[in-house]
Amino acid sequence: MPTNKMTIGNIHSIESCGTVDGPGIRFVVFMQGCPLRCQYCHNPDTWKVGEGQQMTVKELMAEVVKYRSYMKFSGGGITLTGGEPLMQLDFVYEVIEACKKEGIHTAIDTSGYVFNDRAKKIIDAVDMVLLDVKHSDPEQYKIITSGRLAPTLQFLDYLGEINKPVWVRYVLVPKLSDQPEAIENLAIILSQYSNIERIELLPFHKMGEFKWKELGLEYKLSDTEEPDKMAIIDAMAILKKHNLNIVTG
Ligand code: SF4
Repeated sequence: MPTNKMTIGNIHSIESCGTVDGPGIRFVVFMQGCPLRCQYCHNPDTWKVGEGQQMTVKELMAEVVKYRSYMKFSGGGITLTGGEPLMQLDFVYEVIEACKKEGIHTAIDTSGYVFNDRAKKIIDAVDMVLLDVKHSDPEQYKIITSGRLAPTLQFLDYLGEINKPVWVRYVLVPKLSDQPEAIENLAIILSQYSNIERIELLPFHKMGEFKWKELGLEYKLSDTEEPDKMAIIDAMAILKKHNLNIVTG
């Protein structure tokens, strides 16, 4: 992939000083486009790839470098998320390469659903990956996301092969993803990979519900409660049994 400063990205929004998407203070770029349709998605307004603000790599980098001292001081960097950043492969690759030239740490937050040779080039180039695993059972994965689990597991295998630092994210949703056997199975899968540095167990919340309504979409989780403390503690206990490093949001 040659670097071309005119490559244009479709960007949903930017958060210049994020603190939840990777280490330190992050310049977080929410990209348009997602192949999945998660029932609990907070950002359904990112789903369509052609929407949002168009920016060249050069324009985006002009913003990124303004925050370089915050990033450096805090051990942070840039995180490309979405939506699904791997829906805009050329743009994301070029931004990562440009950040590396500037000495800025890079991360992508991805479901791992887009897994092909061009995605591999990005995975090779980026400093770390935040991998969102929605469920450990293919059928339940399909119910939650409308997509297949297999590409994410292949993606994870590749991350293991090249020893890329990974933080796995798992959203705990009552009745959808809190089955003890599913969490146990997840723990068995994840404990095979020494490159996974932490698991972030994220309790489901409904902050994105209003967006579904604004977009005229049916939000199926209106009656689903947020998980209570005990449900979170139980899930953490299962993961900890497998010596995984767990943090909860
Ligand atoms: S992968 Fe992320 S952006 Fe895409 S539908 Fe799921 S939660 Fe939303």
